[in-house]
Amino acid sequence: MIPGLKIDRKTEKNILNAFSKWATHFNKRFKKFGMEGLIKEYTKLIETHETQSCYHGSKGTLNTGESFQYCCGVSYEYINDLSCRDALQIIIDLLPPDESIRLNALISTLDNRLQRLQVNEEFFLNENEIKKYPKEKFWWFYGLPISVKP
Ligand SMILES: [Zn+2]
Repeated sequence: MIPGLKIDRKTEKNILNAFSKWATHFNKRFKKFGMEGLIKEYTKLIETHETQSCYHGSKGTLNTGESFQYCCGVSYEYINDLSCRDALQIIIDLLPPDESIRLNALISTLDNRLQRLQVNEEFFLNENEIKKYPKEKFWWFYGLPISVKP
């Protein structure tokens, strides 16, 4: 059972299969915390970039300014953290229509917040990836928040 999803066994199997090549720690967390965990991660990512600060300083202190810039303000860190949004899309695409609509509604406010943050359009997709991830659907691949340096 994936916590937070009302789905049949076949759909669940498809979803778990879709993540079979993802890191073990992702799969462990996903099976334990399910949708709530992913949405929490996504929320945290957005808050981090809205406030341009993170609690990764020594002993969990707040990083701002330059120390934030060299921590969560680095583009590969951001792209890494953004994988929770990729995961949500993979799940949404495999869900039956009613569950997919429900989940989209759950994250739409967060999506709006992230879209408001994205200003720098310089990004990391090559030609093949652009074909694979069209902008209309995978908009989060197209642009970095101003808090992230390419
Ligand atoms: Zn950080």
